[in-house]
Amino acid sequence: MDHHPKRIALLGSTGSIGLNSLSVIESLGADYIPVSASAHNQWKLLAQQAHDYHLEKVVLTDTTHLDKLVEALNGTQTKVLGGPDHLVDLVMDETVNTIIVAVVGISALPAVMAATEAGKTIAIANKESLVVAGCLLMPLAQKHRATILPIDSEHSAILQAMHSGRRHEVEKIIITCSGGPFRNSTTEQLSQAKLADALNHPTWNMGPKVTIDSATMMNKALEIIEAKWLFDLQTDQIEVLIHPESIIHSMVEFRDGSIIAQLSSPDMKLPIQYALTYPQRLHSTSKRLELNQLQQLNFQQPDLDRFASIRLGFEVAAQGGTAGAVLNAANEAAVDAFRQHLISFNQITELTEHCLRNHNYVENPNLEQLLQADSQARKQVRQFVTDSKPTKC
Ligand code: NDP
Ligand code: MG
Repeated sequence: MDHHPKRIALLGSTGSIGLNSLSVIESLGADYIPVSASAHNQWKLLAQQAHDYHLEKVVLTDTTHLDKLVEALNGTQTKVLGGPDHLVDLVMDETVNTIIVAVVGISALPAVMAATEAGKTIAIANKESLVVAGCLLMPLAQKHRATILPIDSEHSAILQAMHSGRRHEVEKIIITCSGGPFRNSTTEQLSQAKLADALNHPTWNMGPKVTIDSATMMNKALEIIEAKWLFDLQTDQIEVLIHPESIIHSMVEFRDGSIIAQLSSPDMKLPIQYALTYPQRLHSTSKRLELNQLQQLNFQQPDLDRFASIRLGFEVAAQGGTAGAVLNAANEAAVDAFRQHLISFNQITELTEHCLRNHNYVENPNLEQLLQADSQARKQVRQFVTDSKPTKC
């Protein structure tokens, strides 16, 4: 371990990645100290975490129940802040050297940018920030010597496999994909897919947004773009392969033909821990993979006709510029509409493609232009939903 303890700000402590992060931090012992945390509206759980981990600061980004949180923590050592702007305060705390970004959506983007400029270590689960603003974040990280480490399991696997060779020896990466609950569904079945089915992921237990993204495979589109930025790859160096067992989390193929894969049980604690202990590996109590119990590992090519989202992912990764912001925002707004039963399952990808085809592309955008592209795409989706007078499905 480098000489000083990791003092951690955990953005999104009440979600699926957030809770796993706290249990990893606890298991790693005294050198890993949670200093501050944020939640959106789960104020009771945040108050409990502040108490259990003796947090110095907490932020509730949705201020509706801020007074209740203030009251719950009255008389304790925890400082309570309200509103999304304060996420930046958590990462800019001089005593914090490590940030875990486990919020969903792009609300943490200003905090991620600030932490990058401050040269901190950023363990990032939040793929949206990279998809939207990878073109700004990665050069900024290089300039300020910030370390951005992926928590997303595929990208963690790629980072681990990359250590088997040197960067210029990498020929391509192979991102694996469980295929989600509709891997074998027909086009007809996909058009009838219901919310409950989309939320029923076969191998991973995750938050609702990323679970629906796995069902449409838009999650893989986001991950293609995320990988392009994180590892500085050309689109033709990225492949997607369906692997239903979710045991191989991704692979790197080197120029001599060797393919290095990372295997483990599907449990986010391992990539979270790797991002926190990198480049070391520390002991973990994660469930061990019993290879002799595995009958087989299967692979198949993704069907880009049934899952057009993957095709969009490659297109957007090649385009760069504002395209990532549009794909991410349109998809997020469409997923919201699907969750409210306002559009059908197939319309999530169709609407996202529509927004991509009808946006004012900017090749080298600044943050303001990226956020504009984001809000424009959300507006387009909402407009479509209003205009189409949908029948509840
Ligand atoms: P969850 O929905 O379980 O948790 C989201 C967290 O963010 C909660 O703490 C929530 O607070 C907070 N939050 C929600 N909305 C906002 C907002 N508008 N502003 C600030 N904070 C907000 O999500 P996951 O943990 O599943 O995912 C988090 C991120 O990690 C996502 O970007 C996802 O794509 C990525 N990821 C997740 C994986 C997983 O296994 N879950 C795997 C790989 C990547 P509250 O609880 O109060 O609502
Ligand atoms: Mg993933």
